[in-house]
Amino acid sequence: MSNLKLDTQCIHSGYFPKNGEPRQMPIVQSTTFKYDTSEDMGKLFDLEASGYFYSRLQNPTTDNVAAKICALEGGSAAMLTSSGQAASFFSVFNIASNGDHVVASSALYGGTYNLFAVTMKRMGVDFTFIAPDCSEEELNAAFRPNTKAVFGETIANPALDVLDIEKFAGAAHAHGVPLIVDNTFATPINCRPIEWGADIVIHSTTKYIDGHGSSVGGCIVDSGKFDWTRYPDKFPGLCTPDESYHGITYTERFGLEGAYITKATAQLMRDLGSTQSPQNAYLINLGIESLSLRMKRHCDNALAVAEFLSDHEKVSWVRYSGLKGDKNYELAQKYLPNGSCGVVSFGVKGGRLAAEKMMKNLKLASIATHVADAKTCCLHPANATHRQMNDEELAAAGITPDLVRFSCGIEAAEDIINDLKQALETI
Ligand SMILES: *Cc1c(COP(=O)(O)O)cnc(C)c1O
Repeated sequence: MSNLKLDTQCIHSGYFPKNGEPRQMPIVQSTTFKYDTSEDMGKLFDLEASGYFYSRLQNPTTDNVAAKICALEGGSAAMLTSSGQAASFFSVFNIASNGDHVVASSALYGGTYNLFAVTMKRMGVDFTFIAPDCSEEELNAAFRPNTKAVFGETIANPALDVLDIEKFAGAAHAHGVPLIVDNTFATPINCRPIEWGADIVIHSTTKYIDGHGSSVGGCIVDSGKFDWTRYPDKFPGLCTPDESYHGITYTERFGLEGAYITKATAQLMRDLGSTQSPQNAYLINLGIESLSLRMKRHCDNALAVAEFLSDHEKVSWVRYSGLKGDKNYELAQKYLPNGSCGVVSFGVKGGRLAAEKMMKNLKLASIATHVADAKTCCLHPANATHRQMNDEELAAAGITPDLVRFSCGIEAAEDIINDLKQALETI
């Protein structure tokens, strides 16, 4: 059953029950798996046979859900992680460690920026952050001999900048390294970065993929297209024997399709243990079943809200890449022709205090740090995620004191707009 439309894959990919098996993907709530002989188990430990032995490494439910996301992204192998943060960390740390360097877009989720600029820096990995709208010369100049990867977000959270994936992939490949793309906000329904040259795609499944605010989770998908064996000196972890796994060379044993994810599972998941629970994987799977329906509604609602706000006298500016006139409108038309995401950001005239007052008066939209959910929610970064910063520091981070991040849910657009309308009237 290849060539199925994405809508159909959202329902079926990853789990095809055989005769008499459960129609719904079962939750295999078991830490461990039973074998008849020690020899059987030994083969699993040596990665000579495939099968399950301990759910920290692999579990049938999480594997099925990973396979579904893998199919949606058009990848060759995938794994789930306990959170989006774990996915970001593993995706980079699997190929870059102490003494290495990574080029990253500066328009990143705050948690990712912190992971890269502070925590991974302490582990000896250096990052160069570069504006997503940089020239090709500036981008090429960011590379060093020890650069191991390039990282960016399809649609940045919360800046909402759209990544020129072909530009970043071209530069990465010219320097012999893969491009890793965080596709959380676009989801594979609106953009499949691998088709534009990305080599590895990651997700915070906590957002649209779950879609109902129920489970924190992450996913890493490998395209299987990056040829590590062309650069064995750059990627010794994939191209030379792993002493911690009886001398296995991942690229030899598992090919380009399987090497990267097998290494991340066998080494990083084994040692760091950021496993997703089968229960959470099950909930994510339910979310994915309606992903294509929900994304369309999120995008329709966000465009309607962006159009309403851009005509409103109390709103000073609006950012939504699907809105004509937005600085990323053309990029969005290229990479996200069916819609970008449900998140709109805007500024309220009167600045920080006016934004606070408007938000206090919202009745339907809730104030939450969450985004990308069925329920409309919003956040005032100057008062929440970035409240430790003064106005100058906020400006440097690209966040103005009046900025409201508004995540449109899947309610009726009219109700969301009426809520905003009455709240804006109070200021
Ligand atoms: C939320 C988010 C993350 C982090 O994911 P968690 O599941 O919260 O750990 C990473 N990237 C983006 C774009 C996000 O929105």
